Amino acid sequence: MSANPNLNIVPFVSVDHMMRLVLRIGVETFLTELAAVIEEDFARWEQFDKTPRVASHSDEGVIELMPTSDGTLYGFKYVNGHPKNTKEGRQTVTAFGVLSDVGNGYPMLLSEMTILTALRTAAMSAVAARHLARSNSRVMAIIGNGAQSEFQALAFNAIVGVTDLRLYDIDPSATQRCAANLLGTGLSVKICGSSQEAVEGADIITTVTADKQSATILSDNMVGPGVHINAVGGDCPGKTELHKDILLRSEIFVEYPPQTRIEGEIQQLDADYPVNELWEVIAGRREGRASERSITLFDSVGFAIEDFSALRYVRSKLKETGLYAELDLLADPDEPRDLYGMLLRCKAQIAA
Ligand code: NAD
Repeated sequence: MSANPNLNIVPFVSVDHMMRLVLRIGVETFLTELAAVIEEDFARWEQFDKTPRVASHSDEGVIELMPTSDGTLYGFKYVNGHPKNTKEGRQTVTAFGVLSDVGNGYPMLLSEMTILTALRTAAMSAVAARHLARSNSRVMAIIGNGAQSEFQALAFNAIVGVTDLRLYDIDPSATQRCAANLLGTGLSVKICGSSQEAVEGADIITTVTADKQSATILSDNMVGPGVHINAVGGDCPGKTELHKDILLRSEIFVEYPPQTRIEGEIQQLDADYPVNELWEVIAGRREGRASERSITLFDSVGFAIEDFSALRYVRSKLKETGLYAELDLLADPDEPRDLYGMLLRCKAQIAA
């Protein structure tokens, strides 16, 4: 039915393929290589089409589309955020994405992105911390020990050099699971009974909780000088994690200001409150932290370029690993305009 099978077959990376790919490459190597691709793309930030993601909100959560293009490749991710899902055995965040050829508009890759989002979020957080945290940072608190947490831990170990973790979650079973999953990684893990206990002595504080409200996971008195905050869980209007006073004491770094002002911790501040763009630090256009005593804040919400980088990285691994299926996604009649004729020939084949 197809004139050239290579033209209409789209590589599809399933959840199973993604797990095998990550394990084949090694989680730490995957995170480190992905971090390098993200840095490469952030360093050429100005080449990308950028727009705040398109969000459809409901009482229970959000569904978002995240497109971007560098003029050669186009990518988008479909992602949801539904904090109550875990009570019904579902993920809070699931995703899939597409990478396409801008020249002809054909998809070149369709991939699961639930696991890939956890990896790219962790890699992005670690890249930000490598540029913003004090270089001798070794101790990290992780508040919120859900699906993203182990990935964050491993990325900060591999990319930033974090060796000691202090874990806290309002659900102790989440902390137990996270600690058990990290056994054998070489990370020293302390289970804490409160967020206050977790942040004591931490060089880096990661907040990665899920709750659809303006929460106060960290209050002002919990954050001392020199700390880097990696605030991941506040990523929707009305869904924040930090007390406003912390923002007022911090040097704030964001991905794409028009999106972060809607979704990030800085939705608590005036619309013209000055913030720094992380890409400028990565591209060497400006300094990161001003001093060893500064509090730096990466107000992470997740931006489309990170997903573009992740899809680009996964695509680069397909040939050598063969870890994909061939998806019959695109109609490809022998004569391109004879789309209906292709249907008629199929009818004849079925009847035969
Ligand atoms: P999850 O539901 O698997 O885990 C969230 C954990 O937070 C749960 O274990 C829950 O018990 C805990 N928690 C909730 N309230 C808490 C509190 N007050 N104190 C301590 N712990 C608390 O969710 P996940 O997939 O790990 O995602 C975590 C958050 O990160 C979500 O809000 C999600 O939207 C966000 N996220 C952000 C990005 C980004 O790029 N910034 C990417 C992915 C996910």
